[in-house]
Amino acid sequence: MDSVVLATGNAKKLTELRRLVEAAGLRLTVLGLGEVADYPAPVETEPTFEGNALIKARACVAATGLPSLADDSGLAVDVLNGMPGVRSARWAGPDAADEDNNALLLRQLDDVPDGRRGARFVCAMALVLPSSAERPNGAEHVRTGVMTGQLLHAPVGERGFGYDPLFVTDGQQLSNAELTGEAKDAISHRGQAVRAIIDVLSAELARKAGG
Ligand code: IMP
Repeated sequence: MDSVVLATGNAKKLTELRRLVEAAGLRLTVLGLGEVADYPAPVETEPTFEGNALIKARACVAATGLPSLADDSGLAVDVLNGMPGVRSARWAGPDAADEDNNALLLRQLDDVPDGRRGARFVCAMALVLPSSAERPNGAEHVRTGVMTGQLLHAPVGERGFGYDPLFVTDGQQLSNAELTGEAKDAISHRGQAVRAIIDVLSAELARKAGG
C-alpha cells in the first residue's frame, strides 16, 4: 500500500492527515479527491457516523481501486436523543450555514437548564482496502473518537467551525471556539479517530511488508 485516498473535498482535513501520516513516519502518499478521477458522491443513507464513513470509503475504493479513507462526524445532544447526529451539517436546512445551525440548536435548548445540556462530538474514520490476491474480500476498519462536554446558552469564541462556539469540552474552561487548533486536535473526536486509523494504516503497511 503506497498510496491512500482520503475521500474528502476538505483541504484542511487532507493537510491534517498528511501531517499526521508524516509524523507517524509512514511511507505513504495521501491523495485527495482532486487527485483521482471524478466519481459521483455516494448518498449517505446510514443512521450512524460509522455507517456513513464506510459508505464514503467503499465508494472511493470502487471508483479508484485504491485503499480509501473517509470520515463522518457530528454533534449528538443528550436531550435531543442524539440529534442532530448525522444531520449536523444540515440541521437548519440543506444549505444551512454554521450560524443557522447554531441558532436553531440554541432555540431548541432554550428551556434546558445547565446540568442537562450534555452533548458529544463523534467522528468515525473508515479505512477500506481493495481486494488483493491474499485477501479477495478486501478489508474494512472503522475507528471512532468521542469528545464529551456541555452546550452553552450563547456562542463564545471565533475559532474552529460548526458548533464549536456552543461547546465546552469536559475539563476545559474555554469553548472549543476559543481553543487553538493544536489544543483542540489533541483532545478532539477527529484527532482521536485520525490517530487511531493511522495506527491501523501502520499495521497494514507492516503486514504488507512482512507478507
Ligand atoms: P463533517 O463530517 O466534517 O462534514 O462535519 C459534519 C458536521 O458536524 C459539521 O458541519 C459540523 O456542523 C459538525 N461538526 C463535526 N465536527 C465538528 C467540530 O469539531 N466542531 C464543530 N462542529 C463539528
